[in-house]
Amino acid sequence: VTSPIVRTRDELRAALADARPGFVPTMGALHAGHLSLIERSTRENAVTVVSIFVNPRQFSQAADLERYPRDLARDAAAASAAGANLIFAPAVDAIYPPGFATTVDVGPLSSRWEGAARPGHFQGVATVVTILLNLVRPARSYFGEKDYQQLQVIRRLREDLALPGDIVACPTLRDADGIALSSRNRRLTADGRALARAIPRAIAAVVATATAGERNVATLEQRGTEILTAPGVRLSYLAIVDGDTLEPQRELAQNSRLLIAADVEGVRLIDNAVIVPPVR
Ligand code: AMP
Repeated sequence: VTSPIVRTRDELRAALADARPGFVPTMGALHAGHLSLIERSTRENAVTVVSIFVNPRQFSQAADLERYPRDLARDAAAASAAGANLIFAPAVDAIYPPGFATTVDVGPLSSRWEGAARPGHFQGVATVVTILLNLVRPARSYFGEKDYQQLQVIRRLREDLALPGDIVACPTLRDADGIALSSRNRRLTADGRALARAIPRAIAAVVATATAGERNVATLEQRGTEILTAPGVRLSYLAIVDGDTLEPQRELAQNSRLLIAADVEGVRLIDNAVIVPPVR
């Protein structure tokens, strides 16, 4: 049985009453990665709300927005089976009513990496997350480390604007071939999927090189870039950064993160990993 689906701000408010739920915001096309967030929320909260909203403001290309997969019946069933108690599936004008004029900008964290490649993307994310957290008033919200820059933007946002609830970071779920689960993966052909495996291979190579004693970031980045230099793979960036500020680093530190974005068959793939410095 599918849990109740509410569509408007008023319906959501009425359904929640005074509850402070666990909250899992998504754009639908739910896969096991999303379900792991929902299951975690179900373990940690008496009530779990899942939102399903393909947020037009975070897409910088109309074609990408149009071909984003949508199947509410299937998603509501999957979210319910994972333990969600309430599905919030608003229409665009329930989130952005006529006259809507506000944009939330989290500053420098939003302008690098994905923000540079996708102008306006993180402003769109920050704006919708602000609205959703204010509507749901969760005790805890669950976000995937898969979208690492997004996670850092949202942590900053919550802190700066005193938005309700804790932010809980959840580990990235991967397929058996190492590729991070993503709703966009279904657009890859079998050949594209084989090419995309270069991303987890590059991560593994950088991790192995660091473990073997290398702490120079340029050398480590070179190692990863080699693996992603292949016909059919268009590398957007591969960078080792400070895991909090996302600023470039020269030497590995305790909080280093490897960020990768590459296009395969016109599908933008992003991934990231912790890179631990070698023990001296
Ligand atoms: P999306 O529907 O793509 O906006 O993702 C909704 C939430 O699921 C975000 O917090 C994502 O970071 C998270 N998520 C997406 N893919 C994965 C994955 N492979 N593992 C864990 N979390 C994920």
